[in-house]
Amino acid sequence: MKAKRNEYQREIEALHEALGISASQRRQFALPLQFVPDELVSAGLDCFGRPQRLTKAALAAWTAMQADAARQGVELLLVSAFRSPRYQHDLIARKLARGQTLEQILKVNAAPGHSEHHTGRALDIGTPGCEPLSEEFEHTPAFHWLAANAKNHSWQMSYPRNNPWKISYEPWHWCYHPP
Ligand SMILES: [Zn+2]
Repeated sequence: MKAKRNEYQREIEALHEALGISASQRRQFALPLQFVPDELVSAGLDCFGRPQRLTKAALAAWTAMQADAARQGVELLLVSAFRSPRYQHDLIARKLARGQTLEQILKVNAAPGHSEHHTGRALDIGTPGCEPLSEEFEHTPAFHWLAANAKNHSWQMSYPRNNPWKISYEPWHWCYHPP
């Protein structure tokens, strides 16, 4: 277990080095290291038609929450689920290539190894008629429904306004915390 952790940490450090993320930049965003689970299951296709994965328990909790919302006339869409540290690296590398600075990027994307999406328990949620991953999501019936009901399904919004991790407000990002 310890050897596996050390190996993971080395892999994460190599990805940071490749992106030019310094240790102090990592510390500035107080996000904990997140581990990739041993097992992931298919969560079907996201709203862009890409295959997605979650842990078995998170998938069951998501499916139940989505069905509950649907019964009350609210449509919850899956925008993004599990992402590997390598995927996170590639996402940041693409933004750097487009001219964004690390400072700008790290406010909205966790450094590889620190994204909750690595756990297979985090989801970006959307709803029809709302641009995915936009703050306007907070004004939709879907968000109001989540704010009132997600806790009953053990889902929590991870990055509210002024969160201690210095991550931008993400009303669309929810994480399953098993009871
Ligand atoms: Zn997210």
